Amino acid sequence: MNKPVTEGPSIDIDDDELVRRFPGEPITHDNAGHYRGRLRRELLLNRCCRCGTWHQPHKPVCPACWSGAVVPTPVAGTGTIHLAIFLHQGPPAEGVDYRTPYPVVTVELDEQAGLRFTSTVADADNDQIIIGRRVALAWRTRHGSPLPVFTLVEEAAPR
Ligand SMILES: [Zn+2]
Repeated sequence: MNKPVTEGPSIDIDDDELVRRFPGEPITHDNAGHYRGRLRRELLLNRCCRCGTWHQPHKPVCPACWSGAVVPTPVAGTGTIHLAIFLHQGPPAEGVDYRTPYPVVTVELDEQAGLRFTSTVADADNDQIIIGRRVALAWRTRHGSPLPVFTLVEEAAPR
């Protein structure tokens, strides 16, 4: 049986309550740990206990060694913009105004080459959201629950 590795007061809720906290999100058995982490503003991605490989999207077995010992594990949330798109229209979402095209970025996280997480960039002009820019994890609130986003990190001046 899979036992949760990380415990905290806000994650001791049952699956029904978890789904209620994240309306519209595709919560499954494989990613429930990730969503429980969000409730305490911790970005958890699945990592294999046997070989150490991270993987995202969440899967029940490690794609590198096929071990089932996969555990939601915190990432630092720092990385580099790998892909950026700007939505001019889309489904209604709290805090999203498509009149200013809404940025969606896939960030390659520092933990592992190819480990990527998709969200938005907050507090930035769209012309600053460029592939290759460094970002860091930040948290906003949507539908009353924490939402992981990224903010731009100032680059060190070249020497
Ligand atoms: Zn593995």
